[in-house]
Amino acid sequence: MRHATAAVLQRVTAVAACSPQALASSPMSLVVQKFGGTSVADAERIRAVADEVARTRRAGTNVVVVVSAMGKTTDDLLGLALRVSATRPPRELDMLLTAGERISMALMCMALADRDVPAASFTGSQAGIVTDDVHTKARIVEVRADRIRRALAEGKVPVVAGFQGVSTANDVTTLGRGGSDTTAVALAVALEADACEIFTDVTGVFTADPRVVPAARKIGRLSFEEMLEISATGGKVLALRSVEFARNHGVPLQVRSSFTWEPGTWVTKEDPGMEQPIVSAITSDADEAKITVTGVPDRPGIAAALFRSLADRMVNVDMIVQNVSQQGNADISFTVPASDLEASVATTRAVATELGKADVTADSGIGRVSLVGAGMRTHPGVTATMFEALAKADINIEMISTSAIRVSCVVRAAAVEDAVRVLHEAFGLADAP
Ligand code: ADP
Ligand code: ASP
Ligand code: MG
Repeated sequence: MRHATAAVLQRVTAVAACSPQALASSPMSLVVQKFGGTSVADAERIRAVADEVARTRRAGTNVVVVVSAMGKTTDDLLGLALRVSATRPPRELDMLLTAGERISMALMCMALADRDVPAASFTGSQAGIVTDDVHTKARIVEVRADRIRRALAEGKVPVVAGFQGVSTANDVTTLGRGGSDTTAVALAVALEADACEIFTDVTGVFTADPRVVPAARKIGRLSFEEMLEISATGGKVLALRSVEFARNHGVPLQVRSSFTWEPGTWVTKEDPGMEQPIVSAITSDADEAKITVTGVPDRPGIAAALFRSLADRMVNVDMIVQNVSQQGNADISFTVPASDLEASVATTRAVATELGKADVTADSGIGRVSLVGAGMRTHPGVTATMFEALAKADINIEMISTSAIRVSCVVRAAAVEDAVRVLHEAFGLADAP
């Protein structure tokens, strides 16, 4: 069902304008429409979303809906767990959290029934979302979408609970915060949908989080590579795994608003003719922490032992800096997600103890600010401009890392939002391209 990107963009827009007669003779297109927490926050919002799904169907496009939990339900359930239990066994936490999406899917089907749209709800397990058994951050290993295909063939709109799956050991799992995006893209891949639309509370992907930089501009089109870097560096508008799936399988994504329904940001394969701004977006992440190990013997195998232990505990290490001092000892600093700090410090201390005199310190007061842009590949000087802008604002840089299309700096957490505004200004991102 899927076509080349440009054709898909044309088709998805054309489909909306086609007459029923024209559609009868062409194969039906299929979109997966995902609605985030604010999009289904209350009864009125659920009815508004059902109206949009009904409109899409009337225009001749098949729809699979993926819903998140209503509003702040997931946060509320987590808060409840925190008040009830100090240990919160991950299996039970997953069972609790998946309740949020169940509520949304059932209500959505009721609203669709009122509009004479035949619909059926499916939990992650019923939708065939099979994951590994890492509770609270499970990864999808397979999508067995037979029931969803059957529902589509029967003319129904399948409404799937996002963020959840079933492990190969038959336990209910969740995919990590923001995981409904991943459910949506995984289903789009499995069903060979023409596109995956991620409806949210902003009109697209912006040059910076519009809550931090009110002058930020909506970006019309981004490559998967740029979006990957944006998601990986804290631009929470799309979950990182969802972008990885979309890139690996070439599913075009559109991020758009469920409040205005206007066209949003397309995330697609890089097109050689595509204009590439040097810097597309500034992102930030205040949920990082830094661990420093001092006095590490400078010999082969030490870093390998440390980072293998962290990897075995599923910790995602981001930046790593190592300095060798004159006494032949090394200092290693690295960053990890703040939520993994406790486990990472314990693991690092265990490795350090084996090394003898190494000392471990943790610092949770850091944040990361990043520039992302495909045009950086061919434009030197971006890093210098970044450092100058931060220096002018008296923001100290503690660590630096780069990729072909990204530069990141670790700064004090309290300076992160200022850093984003300063860089947005320095690269003139508020101005029209
Ligand atoms: P949903 O509940 O619909 O999944 P999220 O809260 O996960 O919504 O994502 C949307 C939010 O992402 C926006 O409200 C916005 O504040 C934030 N955001 C962060 N960075 C960006 C960005 N570069 N462009 C757009 N939104 C961003
Ligand atoms: N409800 C889950 C969360 O709040 C998943 C999602 O919304 O994508 O993280
Ligand atoms: Mg989200």
